[in-house]
Amino acid sequence: MPSDQSRRLNKPIQEQIDHLRSHRLARMRFIPALETQFEKNVSWVRSRRLSYAMLLMALLNAFLFLGDLRSIPSRIRTSGFLRLVFFPLLALAAALFLRFNPRRLVRGITVIAVAGVAAGSFFYLYSGPGETLLAHMQASLMLLLLITNIVMRLRWSYALFCSVAYIVTSIAFLRINWTASFLGTLGLGSVSACCAAMMLLANYSLERDERLSYLLQQSNDLKNAELNQLNIELGQLNRELEVLSHLDSLTQLANRTAFDRRVRELWQDAAETGQPLSAVMIDIDHFKLVNDTQGHLYGDAVIRRVAALVQQSMRGHGDFAARYGGEEFVLLLPGADLMTALSVAERARMMVHTAGAPAPKQPVARPEIGLWTTVSCGVATALRMPDADFVRLLHAADTALYRAKAEGRNRVCAAAPLV
Ligand code: GH3
Ligand code: MG
Ligand code: MG
Repeated sequence: MPSDQSRRLNKPIQEQIDHLRSHRLARMRFIPALETQFEKNVSWVRSRRLSYAMLLMALLNAFLFLGDLRSIPSRIRTSGFLRLVFFPLLALAAALFLRFNPRRLVRGITVIAVAGVAAGSFFYLYSGPGETLLAHMQASLMLLLLITNIVMRLRWSYALFCSVAYIVTSIAFLRINWTASFLGTLGLGSVSACCAAMMLLANYSLERDERLSYLLQQSNDLKNAELNQLNIELGQLNRELEVLSHLDSLTQLANRTAFDRRVRELWQDAAETGQPLSAVMIDIDHFKLVNDTQGHLYGDAVIRRVAALVQQSMRGHGDFAARYGGEEFVLLLPGADLMTALSVAERARMMVHTAGAPAPKQPVARPEIGLWTTVSCGVATALRMPDADFVRLLHAADTALYRAKAEGRNRVCAAAPLV
């Protein structure tokens, strides 16, 4: 997961990608913040690579001892000491030091110092006239440059330093040991320069590719992190939407859609378990009058209050309350027989009778009429679930409700149990 810092670097990352892609010889160093992060992320891998390459340098240098047996038999003892003892120990020490992952500058200086010692030893061992020595010197220096610029992939500025040092050393060796003409020096110098230039170019390409793939990786990580974040937010929104789409906004009870789904589920459960299922239909009495005399805002407050009381009247685990319509509510009581359902309905009726008229938040239209709220309830119970569907249960509860209205309201009526 990319850090906040890399998220802030998103724009510079894209700019650097465009820059590196659109210029063949682009300046490679990133802006300071990005460069610091780049260095932090790759330094350990680079230090390790340099450490291994240092050992490789010691190994190749030791191999050159075989050539020395023929080319410089008079200095073979010195060569043996330098190539088989001194340089391997120096390279080993440098390799161990690099394992501590030093800073970039220290890393570069360490490698250049060891390479410088190697070049100095070549200079010393191959000094003297003779084309064989010159050829050995050239080959050894080139090998050294190959290791620093291509195998180690030193940063470009250090690689440039190594290339220049290689050319200067080549020419100095030629001038000191040979009485070569100006043209001869120029010829050999140009070959060295071409060689150095090609290795420098290869080094540039390698670093450019490394930086580009780092940028692309970073940009990819950022995009993935953004996508993940969006997915999480979308999931949350979907869940909220799901909840909201099943809630009645005025009362926060389940709405009709949620009720339609729940009644099917509970009916199915009851059919499977053989448990009874009861329904209670609740309707606020003379609610039109409440609206007409006290105003619709007060009417809304009454609906909210009745919804809360109806919800509180339930006791059973799995009991479910919904707003069925305008001022109508419905309770579903799984496992409740008729007596239990009647007691729940009676409790709801009494609670509304006692506390169903909320204190108005603003002056009501006809205060002289007084504030009151009652409900009528119709109760029905299905004892066994035959072929009939839940519509019969709701219809029975509705019929009982109308009987309660007809018998004078503020009461509970029951339908005969459905079997
Ligand atoms: P009854 O005792 O026979 O049930 O009479 P009632 O007046 O309660 O029944 P009726 O069906 O005539 O009137 C119901 C009223 O409920 C009519 C409608 O304007 C009102 N109503 C429905 N939904 C809302 C609502 O969300 N807020 C308010 N304030 N009133 C509502
Ligand atoms: Mg009604
Ligand atoms: Mg009503």
